Amino acid sequence: GVFPVLHCMQEIPCNPCMTCCPKDLIGTLGHPIMGLPEFHGECVGCEKCVAVCPGLAVTLVDFRKSGETALVTVPFELGEWHLESGSEVTVTGWEGSVLGRAVITGWKKAAGFPYTTLLKLETPADIACRVAGVRIQEPEDIAPLSEPLEVPLPDDAIVCRCERVSAGDIRRHLRSGVRDMNHLKAITRAGFGACGGKTCTSLIERICREEGIPAGEVTAFTDRPLFAETELGWFKGADDE
Ligand code: SF4
Ligand code: SF4
Repeated sequence: GVFPVLHCMQEIPCNPCMTCCPKDLIGTLGHPIMGLPEFHGECVGCEKCVAVCPGLAVTLVDFRKSGETALVTVPFELGEWHLESGSEVTVTGWEGSVLGRAVITGWKKAAGFPYTTLLKLETPADIACRVAGVRIQEPEDIAPLSEPLEVPLPDDAIVCRCERVSAGDIRRHLRSGVRDMNHLKAITRAGFGACGGKTCTSLIERICREEGIPAGEVTAFTDRPLFAETELGWFKGADDE
């Protein structure tokens, strides 16, 4: 048959799934709004409960087509730009664990929910009821790079936004032999601004790397913290004066 699976685990003040069903098949045995939803009865597969759930916690499982696979409707709100009908995706449970692979058979918008796509997946029957989502990026696609990827900053890139100092200004002085960031600060004013060098420090270090200057050759900015630890005796001395 066809029925919704309510991957709803937290007692929160929410009940649209209970009020939207045209057959009144979703209710709760607990508190009318805080209780966890429960499904009973003959579902007609209208998909309203899938589309309405703000937590994307409802899927619809349809076993009517084949015994070995099921059609699972999953709510999806990340746009359709990378979905491809007929392609395989990794499917996950409600807590993100990998369950296996499924084939995208199509998708559609539910009436009245322009931002929610109802994604149709053909999954092995034994995992269908646990499928709650799809992986949109495989781990190898998001693994950290073995080496940092640094594209040289263009000369007109702003390095110090407070004082409007460009990468070209910094590069020119580094090429003329300046190796002390305090010296750079005095010449260009980079680092003098209200932010206290929060942005420019790392960008100047980056330009040094781009220029092939070893880190050990560059003198860092002198720290000028907004707060300084002060012994109480100092205040006593101040009073005495
Ligand atoms: S799919 Fe439609 S009929 Fe079935 S439980 Fe959800 S809202 Fe009710
Ligand atoms: S609408 Fe979704 S989050 Fe709210 S109670 Fe129903 S299943 Fe849970």
